[in-house]
Amino acid sequence: MLKTTIIGYPRVGSQRELKFWTEDYFKGNILTETLKAHAADLRKKQWQFQRQKGVDLIPSNDFSFYDGMLDTIFLLGAIPQAYKDLGLGKLDTYFAMAHGYQGKNGDVRALSMRKWFNTNYHYMVPELDDNSDITVSSRKPFEEYSEALEIGIKTKPVLVGPFTFLMLADYKGNKHKSDYVSDIVKAYKNIFNEFKLLGCDWIQLDEPSLVTDLDKDDIDLFILIYKELLLSKGDLKILLQTYFGDIRDVYDKVISLPFDGIGLDFVEGKKTMGLILKYGFPKDTMLFAGIINGKNIWRNNYTKTLSIMHELKGYILTENIIISSSCSLLHVPYTIENEASMEEKYKRYFAFAQEKLEELSDLSSLLIDANYNENNIYKTNAALIESKMINMDIELRKKVSALTKNDFIRKPAFEERKNIQEEALHLPVLPVTTIGSFPQTPDVKALRAKLKKNEITFKDYKALIKKKIADCIALQEDIGLNVLVHGEYERNDMVEYFGENLNGFLFTQNAWVQSYGTRCVKPPIIWGDIRRNKPITVEYIAYAQSLTSKPVKGMLTGPVTILNWSFPREDISNREMAFQIALALKEEAADLESEGIRIIQIDEAALKEKLPLRRSDWHSDYLDWAIPAFRLVHCSVKPSTQIHTHMCYSEFNDIINEIDEMDADVISFEAARSHYSIVDVLAKAKFKTAVGPGVYDIHSPRVPTNEEIKSAILLMLKKISPKKLWVNPDCGLKTRGEKETNKSLRNMVAAANSIRNNIR
Ligand code: GLN
Ligand code: ZN
Repeated sequence: MLKTTIIGYPRVGSQRELKFWTEDYFKGNILTETLKAHAADLRKKQWQFQRQKGVDLIPSNDFSFYDGMLDTIFLLGAIPQAYKDLGLGKLDTYFAMAHGYQGKNGDVRALSMRKWFNTNYHYMVPELDDNSDITVSSRKPFEEYSEALEIGIKTKPVLVGPFTFLMLADYKGNKHKSDYVSDIVKAYKNIFNEFKLLGCDWIQLDEPSLVTDLDKDDIDLFILIYKELLLSKGDLKILLQTYFGDIRDVYDKVISLPFDGIGLDFVEGKKTMGLILKYGFPKDTMLFAGIINGKNIWRNNYTKTLSIMHELKGYILTENIIISSSCSLLHVPYTIENEASMEEKYKRYFAFAQEKLEELSDLSSLLIDANYNENNIYKTNAALIESKMINMDIELRKKVSALTKNDFIRKPAFEERKNIQEEALHLPVLPVTTIGSFPQTPDVKALRAKLKKNEITFKDYKALIKKKIADCIALQEDIGLNVLVHGEYERNDMVEYFGENLNGFLFTQNAWVQSYGTRCVKPPIIWGDIRRNKPITVEYIAYAQSLTSKPVKGMLTGPVTILNWSFPREDISNREMAFQIALALKEEAADLESEGIRIIQIDEAALKEKLPLRRSDWHSDYLDWAIPAFRLVHCSVKPSTQIHTHMCYSEFNDIINEIDEMDADVISFEAARSHYSIVDVLAKAKFKTAVGPGVYDIHSPRVPTNEEIKSAILLMLKKISPKKLWVNPDCGLKTRGEKETNKSLRNMVAAANSIRNNIR
């Protein structure tokens, strides 16, 4: 048998227990000690479970109350002074960094949060300033190691590595990365020593930053840290763990350093195998081979995996291989066993975290079986994988493969249709609109809950939603907005709603994945070919339009966002899936048009989400189909139909031209939180598309004043022609309250009106 391990396990609990305990703690319903005891029980249960499933090297310190990076900030004592000054207890200081703090001890914002590489997980960003004093300041990793030892499990403690920590930190003072090297190396040496005293064998240092594009300074930093650090490892075995790609920029350096183990990703690491074949692998080092996909939820294809592993023969001795997940299992749900209402015919195809442990154990025996072809475990898997491929919508596949260049080009070109639209829509300069959703008040949520429980009929539900829409239109007329929306009351979630109304998606009940802290998401699964079999949004939007003479925007979620916020298939390409979704949405757009809808907004909130980590892959692996997928949705609408899109961020400096090439007529995006810095970027890029950088931040209940909004608009007008500027909030209003929304929107309209009068 080959030895097995995983990089990390999910930690919120299979029923999201940790989330609920933590929220109880925030509300003051349970004591610190109770929360800690619950967490200790959860860890123990998970370790025992992994042991029972046969995992050889079980990770510890992969648990977190909020986030592993935040734990590392704590471990290294890199707590910014403002949080220390609050004088709170340890756990509360920790949560203050996560959430911010407002109370009798002071008022401090939260640390920033950023996307963890190419996942939908978010980490808390370390902030280092010239006073940061990096020293080991928490006992968490050691305590968790001892805790597991008490139940007889010698774990492999997991730590964010020093290189990745420094690469991901924000530097607030004059000091930069390399100025922290000696302190951080000292701290990790101390950590090594502590673990040695505890009798620990292996420790895992996570260095996912190694899979990103590294320049010479970065590489030097990596070498500087590890050359020094590895001098004091003694008997402790150090595993350099990488994931989310291959380490092409440093592979040759890595294999010449005295690591005891190197963890490589064979799932996302396109060049991992090539690197081993080219440079070899040190003979006394253990390879931790990431062969089980830690990000997706499909059963492993044993034929494929075995062939990868067999390719390594001759390069690495089998006994020097430990098989592992490609990344932490944090990014997948707990278990398919929690899906009581999913039919068995579907369930068999899925491997969530728990089932992945079983796959590791299967592969560990198949890998040493010379006749694995005859092995029942193998045969069952091969038959399963093959059976999945049969489900195919031939007609749709043909349609996708018959697409030609012209299917992606909207005619006439932007400038020409701009004039046509101006005549058709008669909008004032600085048109004022919103992003789509209006507050999802408790009554709206209750309505959906009732429908789910069959307490009201669909007919009654629809009537009540329409009543909300009618109120919403009346309100918008009263406020004086120029382009209206229907309010999106019928939608629980912008992706789920479309998924539920398209063929090809599967939904789960409990397949939660941590997004950040206590927040979890439940992505739909793309099961089969995607097709629209009935109009989705048309009835509500047409109804909304029937109530007003002002244009109401038809509101669609774009193909790339639907794809990026779902678990994708692995048997067809992302491009194929995106085009299938796009064709479905194209039909929807056509139906909206024929119902008299003059503006259609295709939201691409998550367009940037899966932009590859390496710049050289941006086009070939992503943008080359993602941008066309968007264009496919709208390219055959009438010239007079105005296409809008919306994005939930504004940092697109690097792909600004590609965004323009989506060939929308208007784009709105977040801007308020990034101090409208996007305005300069747009000006510099000579952005063609008309724009609506959000004039106020909807992520806070604060009501912006008329003056504030006015100065935001004036600031934008310095760089953007009034003919191209729209006025809108920076995202949907669904999480906001009705009162504040009403006031904010009135201020926004007043601000736009007063400026408009001066322009004329
Ligand atoms: N139209 C959506 C809304 O207003 C957009 C949401 C989003 O960007 N996340 O809610
Ligand atoms: Zn948004």
